Amino acid sequence: MIAQFLKQHGEYHDDKTFKDLTTLKMGGHIRHFIVPHSIDDLVIIVNYLKTNRISYKIIGNGSNLVCGESEYDGVVISLRKLDSYEINNDELYAEAGVMVPLLANNLAKQGYSALEFAAGIPGCIGGLVYMNAGAYKGSMSDIVKETLVLKDGELIWLNNDEMDFSYRHSILQDHPRWAIVAAKINLTRKDSQEILDLMADRLRRRKETQPLEMASAGSCFRNPEGTFAWKLIDGIGYRGKKVNGICVSEKHSNFIVNEGGGTADDYLGVVYQIIDGVKEKYGIKLVMEVEKFNC
Ligand SMILES: Cc1cc2nc3c(=O)[nH]c(=O)nc-3n(C[C@H](O)[C@H](O)[C@H](O)COP(=O)(O)OP(=O)(O)OC[C@H]3O[C@@H](n4cnc5c(N)ncnc54)[C@H](O)[C@@H]3O)c2cc1C
Repeated sequence: MIAQFLKQHGEYHDDKTFKDLTTLKMGGHIRHFIVPHSIDDLVIIVNYLKTNRISYKIIGNGSNLVCGESEYDGVVISLRKLDSYEINNDELYAEAGVMVPLLANNLAKQGYSALEFAAGIPGCIGGLVYMNAGAYKGSMSDIVKETLVLKDGELIWLNNDEMDFSYRHSILQDHPRWAIVAAKINLTRKDSQEILDLMADRLRRRKETQPLEMASAGSCFRNPEGTFAWKLIDGIGYRGKKVNGICVSEKHSNFIVNEGGGTADDYLGVVYQIIDGVKEKYGIKLVMEVEKFNC
């Protein structure tokens, strides 16, 4: 019944796992997976699921998720087909499924500045806005003018204030049933080569300092006020620590990587040991930046 309905509005699969859909490469079977063809289809699907009280989770590129091994008995909605964007009068309109590294590169080639801080963040526009993702002292809240949100069955534009942005937070995190559909982003014009050089330099530094060749969900913990999570993790001797397939990266101790076969239980086991160790030694409570789902 659900499958029949979903098939009318997108590309449907019943054989996907979170392992297939997340950069950490772990997690169990997903009962229903759907990639809506269009914004209209997304609206129809979400309204149907809400009306029928069926649980669902919208995902972008799965680069900030640690997912459990048990079957998810709901619907995972991927917005990867909502991937168009356009520029009008130095304003970008980008749908939620646009991959940010590719977009940042395309904008740079056309001499548009805005997303260079995000060029190395492997997520979609929707995921970056949801997380208010950031790097190099920039974050999405600096550039997002308005966000198109599917809220209680209606598409509405929320302005920057209404998004309630703060460090790695947006209002969407308080309303898990809303969806980000698109965003308008302010662009400024700059020399194309200058932007491309800056992005290349930052990517080189990322490669030097982060285990980009390994399966991870990026930084595991938020940085507490006035210090860095990696320093505290080093301070309790966890750099390089291995448990089953999980390893605290030697290259960057705030990256906890899956060397193969690691599960969410293994990952979270290490996370809780670090939280306890840091609390005991420094009196600081580390908070996860990576989101737990279905575990
Ligand atoms: C190698 C690596 C480097 C990273 N570097 C950084 C960095 O420098 N800075 C940083 O901030 N993060 C970084 N991250 C983390 C991650 O890329 C960001 O958090 C990113 O914003 C997640 O985007 P996503 O599309 O992958 O979202 P997902 O992981 O798919 O989803 C994350 C959350 O957003 C929600 N969501 C996604 N799309 C929508 C939507 N359209 N509507 C409603 N909810 C939605 C999901 O339900 C979920 O709760 C890094 C990750 C990796 C693997």
